Amino acid sequence: MSTPVTDSTLDPLAPSPHPRHPLWVWWKRLSPARQDRFATLGPLLSVLLFLAAIITAFWYLRNEEFDREQESVKRDTEIAQQQIRLRLIENQEQLVRMAREIATRAIDLEDFMGQAVSFARERPEVVSLSWLGADQGVKARHLSPNHPGDLVRWPEPPVAGGSAPAPRSEPAWAFAAARDLRQPVYSRPYESHGSLMVFQVDVPLLDRSAFAGTLVAEYSIESLLRYFVPAEVTRRHAISLVDSDERVLASSVSREPASTMRRGAFVQDVALAPSGNGLVVRGQGWRTSIGLIGNTLFWMVVALSALTVWMLLGTWRHVRRRSQMQSALVSETNFRRAMENSMLTGMRAMDIEGRISYVNPAFCAMTGFVEGELIGRLPPFPHWPPDRMEENNRLLQQELQGRSPAGGIEVKVMRKDGTLFDSRMYVSPLIDAKGHQTGWMTSMTNITEAKRIRDQLSASHERFTTVLEGLEAAVSVLSVAQGELLFANRSYRLWFGADSRGHALLAGSDIDLAALREADDSVDSFGGLPAQELTEATGDAREVFIEPLQKWFDVRARYLQWTDGRLAQMLIATDITERRHAEEQASRQAEKAQVTSRLVTMGEMASSVAHELNQPLTAITNYCNGMVSRVRADAIEKADLIAALEKTARQAQRAGQIIHRIRAFVKRSEPQRQAAKARDIVEAAVDLAGIELRRRNVHIRTYVAQRLPELRVDPILIEQVLLNLLKNAAEAIDNAHLPQARRHIELRVVPRHKAEEGGVIEFSVTDNGPGVKDEVMARLYEAFFSTKPDGLGIGLSLCRSIIESHRGRIRAENLYNGMSVSGCRFAFTLPVELPATATESPSTSLIESA
Ligand code: ADP
Repeated sequence: MSTPVTDSTLDPLAPSPHPRHPLWVWWKRLSPARQDRFATLGPLLSVLLFLAAIITAFWYLRNEEFDREQESVKRDTEIAQQQIRLRLIENQEQLVRMAREIATRAIDLEDFMGQAVSFARERPEVVSLSWLGADQGVKARHLSPNHPGDLVRWPEPPVAGGSAPAPRSEPAWAFAAARDLRQPVYSRPYESHGSLMVFQVDVPLLDRSAFAGTLVAEYSIESLLRYFVPAEVTRRHAISLVDSDERVLASSVSREPASTMRRGAFVQDVALAPSGNGLVVRGQGWRTSIGLIGNTLFWMVVALSALTVWMLLGTWRHVRRRSQMQSALVSETNFRRAMENSMLTGMRAMDIEGRISYVNPAFCAMTGFVEGELIGRLPPFPHWPPDRMEENNRLLQQELQGRSPAGGIEVKVMRKDGTLFDSRMYVSPLIDAKGHQTGWMTSMTNITEAKRIRDQLSASHERFTTVLEGLEAAVSVLSVAQGELLFANRSYRLWFGADSRGHALLAGSDIDLAALREADDSVDSFGGLPAQELTEATGDAREVFIEPLQKWFDVRARYLQWTDGRLAQMLIATDITERRHAEEQASRQAEKAQVTSRLVTMGEMASSVAHELNQPLTAITNYCNGMVSRVRADAIEKADLIAALEKTARQAQRAGQIIHRIRAFVKRSEPQRQAAKARDIVEAAVDLAGIELRRRNVHIRTYVAQRLPELRVDPILIEQVLLNLLKNAAEAIDNAHLPQARRHIELRVVPRHKAEEGGVIEFSVTDNGPGVKDEVMARLYEAFFSTKPDGLGIGLSLCRSIIESHRGRIRAENLYNGMSVSGCRFAFTLPVELPATATESPSTSLIESA
């Protein structure tokens, strides 16, 4: 499925939505993570830039402020200096005029005083005004009313030929300087009238260039400052007068100890012209409130910027966390999308009204419709087969009402090409993040193949059950651990009902199911035999008679692993009642035949037996006749009589013995096996056969091996077989009219070990007769086959059935002397458990009989 290309950068012909600005190109090339980083760092950078700009602006403004302040201090200082200078110059001019008038004697002392008074009144800065003579003597002096009162310490007149130089007195120095320079001279400041700091100006009195003294005006430095510095100047800045030693002599601010006075941030010194006496007007400015306000603002900006940076960093962290969550979400979404896309189950989401809001690729692949053809569609949907609209509508309504079965519903779905397929749909509600249901989610699987397999399976299951149900045999499966009947076919149910009792009856003592059930699971009651082996072992067939049903069953049991893995026992019981009856009948008939055969044998031997009985009877008659005649003649002794009677009794006994033997032989009895000795059987057989052999003039030689093991046989039947073989041999010899030399039979009984039979006792009867012709040999054991004119031909056939019923074998073979037959040998075996040491003993016993 191809998705439309939406990224215009992949399509060179598509108009670019943005101009290809290099910055844009750079931005587009960045990975989203880097874009995020830049997007976060941008505001941080701009805040820092803003902070830098603010700092620069503040710095600049501050410098500006400083410059302005500096300027203002300078101006104010200059104004102050100007004011004082102007006053001093004006005063100086007045004083020079007065001096000239004094020098030209235009005024006398009185006038001077008058002028001095008016001079001082108009000038509060002047402390005193004095007229000194050429000798520095005071001619007149006016003290201003605002003078503190102490007399000025006037300098002493210089003493000629002076001694050690006195410390410099400022008035004396000024006087001398004015005298020497002949122009006004300002003294350096000094202390006068107590603590008042003053300086004086000495204006020389020149009388036609002759020095006539000075006019001295004393200025109070403080007053100068107070009166001539404008109030607005002192309001703005501190103006002070400082001497050359940096002592503050007067100041516009309240006087503090000079040492502790803080020096202003802006200081402007201007020399106080025209004095030239080292006095300096000093203006000082402090950082006023404007600095403080600036600082507050500045710190507010800094604080706000810091806050912004902090918040930006916080936002950045938050965004980073968000982007981590986002990337986790994206990978989760991708994972889910990959899952959706790769899974083979079709998914379809619908809103509450049944409008399709989503289909996954598997749904599209299954139906053959593309996403656009399905999304937004209301029912009837395009994948509904037109002939099943009604049914689909009903199912959809059921779906929308939330009544769809949990096991899903089976519907037919139509592909876009019109073909149909079977699907199973499961419906579950779509719940949004707030827990509200927003629609329904349907998953769809194609079950065409599964359905086909299921149909096949159910058909084969049906066939299987039909066969099992139709069986004549009862088939039942019982779980070994729980004793629960897992399966029973119709025959079983018919005979035993639907419970496990019948199974237990059939199983008999095969396994004790109850014990098995109670046994702990962990203990293996089969002696550690793995279930696998147990199930592979096939049970022997057993024949069981079920009393209540009066039926015989051939029961075959085997263990198998049931479909759920449990060990189970399966019994197949075939009704063999009829066969059993037939067998019983057959065996009854065989028994009758044996008895008949014995009677026949006896019948055949009747003349011989009569002859045999005749002898003792004749002897008894003779003895009796003899005794009668001798008793009549009284010619017999008592002792002779007893002897004769004893002989008679012996003969009667002998006759009785013969009859007893015959009776025992022909007596009809149930065939029963018992422990019997081969020797006893041989003796009895030879005893009976002896009658016939004697009549036919045939000798028998018997050889029985010593220490033969006991047999478990019916002795009468074996005796019958032996008698038959001996009789046949005698008849063959007699019928062939053989000479006396060949008229003998040998009976041998020896133990043998045969490969196919194991340990056996072999009875063999060998005669020197004419042997058995080949055609006779082939039909030897056929019933009613005889070569004798009066033969019945059932002898050998009975012999074989008797021997085989004893699990033995019978064989006949001719004996050869060169090419000619010299006799034949009939041999049969009977199985025994041979002791390991039992071998043919050398010591033999021979029973000879004439
Ligand atoms: P019957 O003796 O009544 O004929 P049997 O079944 O005993 O029936 O014997 C079947 C036949 O086998 C005899 O008729 C005889 O031909 C043959 N047969 C049996 N025993 C011998 C033997 N020892 N020698 C030669 N043939 C024999």
